[in-house]
Amino acid sequence: MLNALSTSAPSEVSPPTAVPTTPAYGDPNDPRLGNLQDISCPGYFGHVELACPVYHQGFIDMVLKSLRCVCYHCSSLVVGDISNDFKVKKASSITKRKTRLEAMHNTLRNKAGKQCDHCGRHQPPAIGGTGYGDLQEIVKDEDARKLGLDIAWAKPEWLVVSVLPVPPLHVRPSIHAGGNTSEDDLTHQLINVVKSNIALKDAIATGAPYMIQERRTAPLRSSTT
Ligand SMILES: [Zn+2]
Repeated sequence: MLNALSTSAPSEVSPPTAVPTTPAYGDPNDPRLGNLQDISCPGYFGHVELACPVYHQGFIDMVLKSLRCVCYHCSSLVVGDISNDFKVKKASSITKRKTRLEAMHNTLRNKAGKQCDHCGRHQPPAIGGTGYGDLQEIVKDEDARKLGLDIAWAKPEWLVVSVLPVPPLHVRPSIHAGGNTSEDDLTHQLINVVKSNIALKDAIATGAPYMIQERRTAPLRSSTT
């Protein structure tokens, strides 16, 4: 599991809106990502900073279960004192982390519509969009531990993609045949990600209406996951 900070350490890739014919700085075949002719070098990762965090398909179940256990408004566990609730106390004492998250989720998910013990506000009936403070801190560290998550290796916000790693050229080599050059499917997908990311960034920067931003967020989500 990587956090956004470590993922963004390599150079940022900001490809143009079409497959480039010659490598250039900032495109998906950026020479800084590696040289295909040099078999002694495996290449280097780049990154794309996404205009909004995107759920990762592989971790959506864990994120959803974590979100259902915390308050929509203050990101604290909806139950204030675990020791006062027999079922929650029993679930939080389970040693196996995965089983603990499952048990905590089964116990706390029924709190939808009820009041949070911390802020006193009611929980929405369903989770939607990018609430939860833009998913930057969806679960507090101390609560993540109670849920069975290991914050040293997998903080809840790391399960959401905010910086997308761009694999080296050696992972997605171009194919040269009959005088033509064809790009790998992964390169085409990366271009789709960047095109939709640029469109959403523009919409946010120009203060476009919420509906327009939502419409531009959908392609980013689908192309990233
Ligand atoms: Zn609350």
